Amino acid sequence: NHNHNHNHHFRHADSTASLPSSAVAKISHLKAVVLGDAPASEEDDVVLPSHEFSRQALVPSQQKYLEMYKASIENPAGFWSGIASSEFYWKQGWGDQVYSENLDVRRGNIKIEWFKGGITNVCYNCLDRNIDAGLADKIALYWESNEPGFDATLTYSQLLQRVCQLANYLKSVGVRKGDAVVVYLPMLMELPITMLACTRIGAVHSVVFAGFSSESLAQRIVDCKPKVVITCNAVKRGPKTIFLKDIVDAALIDSANKGISVDVCLTYENQLALKREKTKWKEGRDIWWEDVVPKYPTSCDVEWVDAEDPLFLLYTSGSTGKPKGVLHTTGGYMVYTATTFKYAFDYKDSDVYWCTADCGWITGHSYVTYGPMLNGATILLYEGAPNYPDPGRCWDIVDKYKVTIFYTAPTLYVTRYSRKSLRVLGSVGEPINPSAWRWFFNVVGGSRCPISDTWWQTETGGFMITPLPGAWPQKPGSATFPFFGVQPVIVDEKGVELDGECSGYLCVKSSWPGAFRTLYGDHERYETTYFKPFPGYYFTGDGCSRDKDGYHWLTGRVDDVINVSGHRIGTAEVESALVSHPQCAEAAVVGVEHQVKGQGIYAFVTPVEGISYSEELRKSLILTVRTQIGAFAAPDKIHWAPALPKTRSGKIMRRILRKIAARQLDELGDTSTLADPGVVDQLIKLADT
Ligand code: ATP
Ligand code: MG
Repeated sequence: NHNHNHNHHFRHADSTASLPSSAVAKISHLKAVVLGDAPASEEDDVVLPSHEFSRQALVPSQQKYLEMYKASIENPAGFWSGIASSEFYWKQGWGDQVYSENLDVRRGNIKIEWFKGGITNVCYNCLDRNIDAGLADKIALYWESNEPGFDATLTYSQLLQRVCQLANYLKSVGVRKGDAVVVYLPMLMELPITMLACTRIGAVHSVVFAGFSSESLAQRIVDCKPKVVITCNAVKRGPKTIFLKDIVDAALIDSANKGISVDVCLTYENQLALKREKTKWKEGRDIWWEDVVPKYPTSCDVEWVDAEDPLFLLYTSGSTGKPKGVLHTTGGYMVYTATTFKYAFDYKDSDVYWCTADCGWITGHSYVTYGPMLNGATILLYEGAPNYPDPGRCWDIVDKYKVTIFYTAPTLYVTRYSRKSLRVLGSVGEPINPSAWRWFFNVVGGSRCPISDTWWQTETGGFMITPLPGAWPQKPGSATFPFFGVQPVIVDEKGVELDGECSGYLCVKSSWPGAFRTLYGDHERYETTYFKPFPGYYFTGDGCSRDKDGYHWLTGRVDDVINVSGHRIGTAEVESALVSHPQCAEAAVVGVEHQVKGQGIYAFVTPVEGISYSEELRKSLILTVRTQIGAFAAPDKIHWAPALPKTRSGKIMRRILRKIAARQLDELGDTSTLADPGVVDQLIKLADT
C-alpha cells in the first residue's frame, strides 16, 4: 500500500523548470528501477513488466519511452505532424504552422489550434481508409445484447454501408455541415453508426447518455438546438425495461416550451425491448429508423472539413456541478485519440478490444468509437448491465469473444477470477487504489497483464498520464508518466511550479492535439474555469503528487481535498488506507464541517461480504488510517454503507455523499444518473447507527 504522504511538503522548482524541456529534464534523471530488487519502501512497491510482454511491445523499454517523449516535447510540431501525415488521410495538408496556441489569459484570449487548414474527415479515416487498406471483411463491431444469446456483428464494409445510409437520410431531412444532432441512444450498434454518420457529413453530434432525465436532455437540446434527435423506443438493462422514447417525448415538450422545437425525432425500434405498436407516437415528428434509413443508398460522399471544424459536443458528467458543453474539433482529436489508443493499450491488429464505458461518456467517444476504429480495431459493444443475469456475465463475454484488451472503471462490479485471453487491462474514471490495483492485476489479469491506469478528462480528449504497457515498471495505484506531448506540472496555491517529490494542483503546460477548444457557447466560462486559476497553465481541477521516482499519483479532485486543521488530505488517500483493511470492501470519504478542525473526515464504508458492522471493526478501521497516514487523517465518523451511490459510468457521486454527511437531505439534487437510486435511501436509514 502506498503511503505517499507528502501533502504538506511543497518543494519549489529551480529556475530552469520553466524551460520548455523541463518536463523531459524532470523525468530523465529517474533512476531505473533495478530488475528483481526487493522494494526498499512502500513507495518502491513496483510491478515489473514481464519480458515476454516487453519483447513484443510497441514501446519495449523506458529508454524508448524517454526517447520518444523527449522528441515530442522538444519538437511537438515535428512529432505530431509526422504521425498525422503518415497515419491518416488528409485531402489537403495544413499550412506551415502545425499548431498555434495561447494558454495564458494575460496574453489575451485562450486559443488552441492544431493542423489548421488541413482538410480531412474522421469518418473517412475510421472506415474508408481502413477498408482501402484491406480491412473490408475484418469485424469492426461485435454487439452483445443484454439478453445472453442475442448478438450481432458488422464488418468494416458493412459498417460503412450502414453509416452511409443514415448519413444520406440525415442529409435528406436537411442536416448540413455544422448542424447539431442530439443522440439519446443506449449501447446499440446504432449508436456508433450515428456518431460516424454525423461525422461523415460534418454534422456535430451531441450524445446524451441514455440514463439522463428528461430535464437534463431538454437542457442539452435547448443548448445546441439540433435539427434532429435520434433515439430508440426502449432498452433493457438487466431485468428492467427503460422507455427511452417517453423520456425524449417529455424532453421535447420541455424544450419546445423554452422556444426550441425539433422537427424530426428518428426512433429506432429496439424489438428486443419493445414493439413499435406499444410506443407512443407523434405523427409528423416521429419517424421509425427501420422505415426510412435502409431505403437510402449504401454509399455517401464525404464532407471534407477543416481540422479545426467542430467534431462533437459532449457535456462533462457533472459530478461536481452544472455540466459543461465540451467542444472537440476534428484533426487534433483524431490524431490524438488514435495515437493514445495505440500506445496505451499496445494495440495489435489481432486484438479484440472491450471498453465497458457507454458511448454517452467521453470514454465511449474516444475509446469505444474513434480511437479504436481509427486503428481498424475489432470492438465489442455490450448493451447491458455488467452483473446481469449473474455476476459472471463480464467474464462470459470476455471468454465468448476472446477479449484481449479490457478497459473498465475501477468501481465496476466484477467477480473474481482470471481470463486467459486477456493481455492488457485498463482503468479509468477514479483513482484506482493500490489494493484494487493488486486485485485487478492478480485476480483478473492472472498476474500477467499490465494495467494501463489512464488519467484523463472529457476536456483532454484522450489519455494524459498513463503507463505504456511493457515500457515501465508499474507502481500499483500510480498513473505513472505523461503521454507523448503532454507536460504535466504540479503547482502550489500560488501557481508556483513544484519540483521533485511534491504534491499540489495538477496543471498542464502547452497544448496537446486532443485538447478541447472551448465550452460551447461560453468561451468565457472556458477561460475562467480552466485557465484563470493558474495563469499560463491548463488547470485540471485534480490534485496530484509526484514521488521521488517521478511517478504521478492522482489524489482526486481538488474540491475533494479535505482541510483538517490546516492539513490538506486527499480523500483518495484516506480511502486507500481504509480499503487496505482486509474487512473493508469499499470506502468513500468526504469532508464535513467541524467546529474545532474546520473540516472533519467522514467515511462511508462497505465491509466485505459476510462481515457485519461492529464497534470493533470501526475502531480497527480508524486505527488503520492512523497508522498508515497519521492521526490527523483519522475519520471522525464511519457511516456503514451496504453500497455506495455510483453513476452508471462507475463514479462515486460524492456530491450526494457530502449532502448525506451534512444531513442536508432535502438538497440531494438530481439522482437520475445513479445506477441504483435506492442506495441513497439505504444510506439515509443507516445514518445514525
Ligand atoms: P465534472 O467535471 O462535470 O464534475 P467529471 O470530472 O467526473 O465531471 P470526466 O471528464 O468524465 O467528468 O472525468 C474526469 C475526472 O475523472 C478527472 O478529472 C479525475 O478526477 C477522474 N479520473 C479519470 N481517470 C482517472 C484516473 N485514472 N485516476 C484518477 N482519477 C481519474
Ligand atoms: Mg471534470
